[in-house]
Amino acid sequence: MPNLNPNRSPKKTPMPEQLPQERIHNFLEVPKGYTEEMAVEESRRCLQCKKPMCRTGCPVAVKIPEFIALIAEGKFAEAAQKIKETNCLPAVCGRVCPQEKQCESMCVLGKKNEPVGIGRLERFAADYEREHQLIHLPTKAAPNGKRVAVIGAGPSGLTVAGDLSLLGYEVTIFEAFHRPGGVLMYGIPEFRLPKAIVEKEVDYLQQLGVRLELNQAVGTSIMVDEILNGENGEPKYDAVYIGVGAGFPSFMHIPGEHLGGVYSANEYLTRSNLMKAYRFPEYDTPVLLGKNVAVVGGGNVAMDAARTAKRLGGENVYIIYRRSQEELPARGEEVHHAMEEGIIFKFLSAPVEYLGDEKGRLKAARCQEMVLGEPDASGRRRPVPKTNADGAPAEFTIDIDLAIVAIGGNANPVLAQSTPGLELNQRGYIRTFTETGRTSRPAVWAGGDIVTGAATVILAMGAGKAAAADIDSFLHSHDTKWL
Ligand SMILES: Cc1cc2nc3c(=O)[nH]c(=O)nc-3n(C[C@H](O)[C@H](O)[C@H](O)COP(=O)(O)OP(=O)(O)OC[C@H]3O[C@@H](n4cnc5c(N)ncnc54)[C@H](O)[C@@H]3O)c2cc1C
Ligand code: SF4
Repeated sequence: MPNLNPNRSPKKTPMPEQLPQERIHNFLEVPKGYTEEMAVEESRRCLQCKKPMCRTGCPVAVKIPEFIALIAEGKFAEAAQKIKETNCLPAVCGRVCPQEKQCESMCVLGKKNEPVGIGRLERFAADYEREHQLIHLPTKAAPNGKRVAVIGAGPSGLTVAGDLSLLGYEVTIFEAFHRPGGVLMYGIPEFRLPKAIVEKEVDYLQQLGVRLELNQAVGTSIMVDEILNGENGEPKYDAVYIGVGAGFPSFMHIPGEHLGGVYSANEYLTRSNLMKAYRFPEYDTPVLLGKNVAVVGGGNVAMDAARTAKRLGGENVYIIYRRSQEELPARGEEVHHAMEEGIIFKFLSAPVEYLGDEKGRLKAARCQEMVLGEPDASGRRRPVPKTNADGAPAEFTIDIDLAIVAIGGNANPVLAQSTPGLELNQRGYIRTFTETGRTSRPAVWAGGDIVTGAATVILAMGAGKAAAADIDSFLHSHDTKWL
């Protein structure tokens, strides 16, 4: 039992950060992480509960009190290994998981004071292990002669691959892009999740034996049936897991969206991340550098796009969101950081038209003011257009030269359309019939955003974990019943 602190602070040990006025001029990570002393101090706030509620809030069931106890004892690399028993991407999750809605929301300390900073401690342990080159490979089961193909190298696919590789499977990931990581690599910006960290976590999986086939868009260059049946030079795979995400951009279908200067957040962030716009002018990426920028939406994607635009030289960067601050779906920390960085929030507003100049370049957005009405199906109050006293719509116009639409993603239809018998739901996402991700096609599992729609890293990983366990039990049972 570690030396707990009877005089624990009611607040989390603060984590040092780059100051807003400095960080808007660079893409370096904003929070700097705990020192060893800070991590030990924070770990000693934990009560080491006999029935740890925090763990029930974690979709991959990280052994939270156990790893925190190891930090309190100064056994930092061992703490990282403890986390990795159930989570193969701890440095990522420690940075981007919405802990305030998951493990930390269940921590008993949170009833009266601030909960234990579980995410900060997870990040510390993973960073310590990596920075001190203490990464330890766990013992794998002996090869069992079975092959599993994973489509998509996002957090969901990477989790399936890691878990099955440990169980002795030969696992190959087919990834459409030239770099693995999914949204971790091409969506979330460098100042929130450095790409070198994602690369290291993928590297760890490769050391476990996971093979990566990059630039392989399944559904165009190769089909699911070819993978399963072993056609066209492919070895025969015993199971396929589909984790292709929901990265197809959505637009509002309002006039002027075709104008030069209107991007989807997906395109804007991908160009910035994969084509290194964030190292402009060293890398001269073709992404527009707006001075007056409107980002439409209120989720993590919108915050990331706005903060990226600020760092790329935006003078006035607006978030245009149709509900109020209370309903913002982004993580609290991201909203706080965006506000500190001078992003201008225009709540209860929505664009209704983009206006262009004679060359077809965006010059302004006409916006409708909103009020909140009755709750909708999501339980949040529905925004309804506001009218002036004379009954005319309440509107305003802002001058902008760049608009970034961040209103959510859709399923990319290519893979589903090229896979006969794969059932989809009404919204175009893959339909699963068990909690472990079995689809309408025998031997084909699916999970992550392609099943749920845009969600979170840890939920995509949780789906991957459940599917990996089910793939293992299906391939080892003599019961051939699928659904
Ligand atoms: C900008 C942004 C910020 C976010 N911030 C957060 C955050 O702070 N915290 C959080 O928890 N979540 C966040 N999310 C959501 C989170 O990233 C996703 O929920 C998560 O990445 C989903 O994982 P996935 O593995 O299902 O899909 P993805 O991460 O989308 O990965 C899917 C992979 O499949 C590949 N692929 C697609 N089609 C094919 C094909 N036909 N063949 C082969 N490969 C294919 C893609 O290239 C991609 O690499 C954010 C999302 C975005 C876009
Ligand atoms: S609930 Fe909080 S105090 Fe209890 S073990 Fe988990 S982190 Fe520690």
